[in-house]
Amino acid sequence: MFKILIVLTSLLSTNADFFQLTDIHVDLDQECTDNTTHLYGNFDNSHYGCGATSISVLDTSKFMHKIQPELDFIIFTGDAPWSGGVLPTMASIQQSLSSIFPNTPLYFLMGNHDFTGKPFGTDATELYPQVANLWGKWLDDAAHSEFSTFGYYSLLLPKKTSSSKPVRLIALNTEHFNHGNSWVTLGKTWQEGQAQLLWLNQTLTNATLNNETCWLFGHVPPGMECGYLNDESKTEASSYDTVRENWMPIWQMQYQEIIELHASNIALQSFGHEHVDTFRLVGSNSVLFSVPSLSTGYPATNPTTRLWHTDELKGTVHDYTQYHMDLINSNLEQKPLWNKSYTASEVYNLTDLTRSSMETLLERFHSKSSSMYSKERRFFMSSTPEKYQPKCDAWCQTVDLCDKEFGADISTDKGFQGCTYWRGRSLIGNNYEL
Ligand SMILES: [Zn+2]
Repeated sequence: MFKILIVLTSLLSTNADFFQLTDIHVDLDQECTDNTTHLYGNFDNSHYGCGATSISVLDTSKFMHKIQPELDFIIFTGDAPWSGGVLPTMASIQQSLSSIFPNTPLYFLMGNHDFTGKPFGTDATELYPQVANLWGKWLDDAAHSEFSTFGYYSLLLPKKTSSSKPVRLIALNTEHFNHGNSWVTLGKTWQEGQAQLLWLNQTLTNATLNNETCWLFGHVPPGMECGYLNDESKTEASSYDTVRENWMPIWQMQYQEIIELHASNIALQSFGHEHVDTFRLVGSNSVLFSVPSLSTGYPATNPTTRLWHTDELKGTVHDYTQYHMDLINSNLEQKPLWNKSYTASEVYNLTDLTRSSMETLLERFHSKSSSMYSKERRFFMSSTPEKYQPKCDAWCQTVDLCDKEFGADISTDKGFQGCTYWRGRSLIGNNYEL
């Protein structure tokens, strides 16, 4: 009887989970970490951008296993190195994760720091097969060949039961679109980028024809680069200090057009790169998420990992729970001290992560009587102690909310600029009178 109950319960259970890790930035050569005072990373301003350690990757894997040993998969959304080189840091991450999760599919994609040269031409086509050989154990032949040739791939996730909704994982190579890469601004990735977007559109079209739901992952997300606003630890201006589009607008426009066409069949768009926790409305019908980093720099943030909650019968991704390591005390006590940061449905009072739910959340953020936005600011920086955080004043908050609402919009120049203009005006009020 007991056995029958267990079987029945497992048949009725439709919940599944996967972890997303991003921007690990392993400090393999211990350039900015050490085994005595910075075992898990470093907030120190003189080490701005410091990476995670090999120990933090292994301890994070152990923690993830404790939280959920029965994962559907783990995805690492790019940026392996801080020091020690691209392939060695990838190998070290791969080794740590698979030592704890030997039977869990482990997927990956390319971040902007994962290139050893240009993101096109022979620099790229010589690198992709090496990366595929490192991470490719869980790729099917088609995905392995796609990645080895182009640096992006799609595959059908293993189905748990015959009634599971087929889900296609799509892993983009956003380095063809990244505004921060001067080869991209020079137009050198034009052909590769066009080919990738044609492939994306075709992949999404085929998925719909085959009754597959799509989960889309990338490294650099479309949107405005505003994670560094008001950061007092930055004492010199650089090209990274301007609030500009993460993707060149010509690429963002095309991405959005494709996503609009297929929005009803895309259950998740999730990225990394920014090292902070945010989301953005995309066009009129979808929303993207940006997941915080395991690395502790750019800007200073506690090491973070996100557990996505899915419904395997529907193929939906309806919730997530995020966890952060208390970096200061973990370094002091020489052991990883993890906390649950929050579960989206609980803290934001949401039933799911659909476009309409995220629009409702944005309305709540605007409400003066709600404390939800102050919570969001805490999560934005992964509960990093306030003294290490940039102070986000009224203007910084205006920019952030405009980015969430308009930053990934097709008319970013009009939407985002208009939003900051009009909301900025209402901040100023009638200061100047005769
Ligand atoms: Zn990055």
